[in-house]
Amino acid sequence: MVDNSNRPDTNKAGGINHRLAHARNKLAGMHIGQVAKRTGMSCIAFPKMLAQKLHKHNHTMVGRIQWAFLGGSILVYAVSIAALWWTSTSVIHDNVRLQAGQWIEKLDELSAPLYISPGDEQMEVIRKHMQNFPEVAYVYFYTSEGRQLLGEYKDAALGDTVFPRFTEQQVDELKALKDQDNAYRFVPDYQTSMARVSAPLWVESIKSDGMLDFSLDEDDVKQIKIIGFIDLGLNFKAHQQQLSRNMLLGSAIIAAVFLVLLIIGRLAIKKSLSPLTQLQEPLMRLANGEEYVQVDVKGDEEIVTICNAFNATMNALKSRDEELNRLANHDSLTSLANRHSFTKSLEREVDRIVDENTSSALLFVDLDKFKFINDTFGHAAGDRLLKKVAELLVSNTRNADLVARFGGDEFAIIARGVNLYEADKIAAQLVEGMQQLRFVEDGETLNVYFSVGVAMIENNRFSADEILSQADMACFQAKANGRNGYHINDASGDVRKQMEADVGWSQKLRQALDNDHFKLFFQPVINLKNGEPFYHEALLRLPDRNSEMIYPEAFLPSAERFGMSTEIDDWVMSSVIAELARLDKAGKPINISINLSPGAIEDDELVSRIRLLLQKHKLTPSRLVFEIREHTALRNMDKVSTCINELHELGCKLALDCFGSGFDSFNYLLDWPVDYLKIDGNFIEKITTSKVNMAMVKSMVQIATTIGKKTIACHVGDDETIEELCAIGVDYAQGFHIGEPAGIISEKKYPLPARAKRKNNIKSIR
Ligand code: GH3
Ligand code: MG
Repeated sequence: MVDNSNRPDTNKAGGINHRLAHARNKLAGMHIGQVAKRTGMSCIAFPKMLAQKLHKHNHTMVGRIQWAFLGGSILVYAVSIAALWWTSTSVIHDNVRLQAGQWIEKLDELSAPLYISPGDEQMEVIRKHMQNFPEVAYVYFYTSEGRQLLGEYKDAALGDTVFPRFTEQQVDELKALKDQDNAYRFVPDYQTSMARVSAPLWVESIKSDGMLDFSLDEDDVKQIKIIGFIDLGLNFKAHQQQLSRNMLLGSAIIAAVFLVLLIIGRLAIKKSLSPLTQLQEPLMRLANGEEYVQVDVKGDEEIVTICNAFNATMNALKSRDEELNRLANHDSLTSLANRHSFTKSLEREVDRIVDENTSSALLFVDLDKFKFINDTFGHAAGDRLLKKVAELLVSNTRNADLVARFGGDEFAIIARGVNLYEADKIAAQLVEGMQQLRFVEDGETLNVYFSVGVAMIENNRFSADEILSQADMACFQAKANGRNGYHINDASGDVRKQMEADVGWSQKLRQALDNDHFKLFFQPVINLKNGEPFYHEALLRLPDRNSEMIYPEAFLPSAERFGMSTEIDDWVMSSVIAELARLDKAGKPINISINLSPGAIEDDELVSRIRLLLQKHKLTPSRLVFEIREHTALRNMDKVSTCINELHELGCKLALDCFGSGFDSFNYLLDWPVDYLKIDGNFIEKITTSKVNMAMVKSMVQIATTIGKKTIACHVGDDETIEELCAIGVDYAQGFHIGEPAGIISEKKYPLPARAKRKNNIKSIR
């Protein structure tokens, strides 16, 4: 199987998509984003609220302006009516005052005969004349003392109304007016709409002092004599009634004008604000989550500016959305679809195949020895090659097909609507195309190849993940067949069986995890000085239906393929730490070791989870030993270094398992703070018969001792081996002969053979 360690994290693409979804929500709530921020509301909740608010909001801007307009109109109307009333009333009063002057003059003239020869005859003439003037309510003519009535006229409509006579004071006041311009008193009574006009009547004559005394000075020659008084009542009710009628009519006309203006104003406001009102609908759509909304650019300059700004913002956000989409779904180096979008397309393709009962092919491509290009020519050269391969794959497939960069040096292709025969041809064509590709770097022309795994997408029960796994395994097979070729997954053969077995395993493992069915067995590692157990290695087992124990080798590969290995690692760690805590409480300070799987080593959160478990159970970290297999460590040196260092800092012990199985086992020893070297069992098993093995183990022990590390011998099969191990200074031993894995921790001391003891004693005496 292809090593997944270099594939980018699937969640990375998921993460970008998540951010994209977030940006979309932002887009939906764009116009209210700042308000949302201020109020601490989420952008997702805000558009909904805005939509509700817009629905609930009864006051429109047009309505508000119209109300203001109506209020203003009523005010203007009231003010203008008041002004009209005031002006008209003052005009009437001025007019009556003017009339008063004219009437006094007229009456002065009319009454002259009456004062010369008083009598009814004269008065009758005056009365007749007066009857033509309804505004004259009454006229009294008084004699020169002002008390005696010479004649009177009263409007018949006034009936018995009695008007008061002059008082003496009023007579004196009137006398004082003689010989003056406008010599009359005007007293209006607005309540009764009547004005009392009173005036003195006089005659002027030249002084009769004799001709000799005659002087040109007028004042000296003029003699003024009061002959009587006039009391005139002027009725201006008729004027006021006329005014009221006119006012009523005038205000009705003004009101009608205002009403017309109001209607015209409403229509004008509605018309001029209609582009703004029309913005409401696109804003509502935006608030309801629509992503791209445009508004019609029309109306007055201000509204055109708003519309333009709105459309420009929407366009900018759309471009950003598209860019985010592109980044979320495409690989930045090759511009091909990325793993995330490819997986989605594959899922859709699987559904389509089921619906349409047709077939397609999935081709999984992995460059051969790509690390060599990176190591020899540098990462940039590796990138250039990846781009070239991407171009080659695109040019060798049809437009309808989908080519994606799956991660690292892996590519994946969906060849749509092809059968097995055609898929075979496409794979062969791709491999041939790659064989012809010349990659020139640093003046050197290189032949780079790739291996292709093909899995058919057919109307069967396999999911997208399973088909991917089949193609991946087929690619692995192509590599195993010597690389630079292709392998087609045989859905009816071994791979299918493997897949079915995997599917079965995934269900069993899920049940075991959910129901706590896993079991821990413990195998002792003894101290070769005294035979006491030094620590116990925890070994995972899964009981089958017959309570037979299944070894992890049988189910861990499936667990890794189905992404369950982390959960299983966690189960082991928490079980072991809980067991150690239990033993601690029981006063048994026993140490236990745990085997770290490759997946666990790559898990960035592993150490923090262990730390939490240790804190939870208040356990001393040195009671835990972690065993890492040498070939696992060498497969991913960077991750292993980080993991070992972090566990060492935490205070846990570390053992390098199967030490010596690699070629350069000693190279990295100084770099890693491991405590124990568990010498590979292959050397130990034949130590008593093979001189080479003995020499190898001796040298390992010597080097380990030199750099201060302890050694553990595995697969110890007999006492003779124990004696030899003691002789060459191995510290600890483990094997079926010493103690088999068991469900309970055995605290039994191992009885060391006599010769081994003697050697230990000799050593200790020295
Ligand atoms: P094999 O034939 O078994 O596939 O051997 P290989 O050397 O190709 O090994 P593998 O496929 O496991 O290695 C893939 C390498 O691709 C590992 C990693 O350093 C490198 N790689 C991953 N991503 C990139 C990248 O973006 N650019 C470059 N230049 N190298 C990358
Ligand atoms: Mg490769």
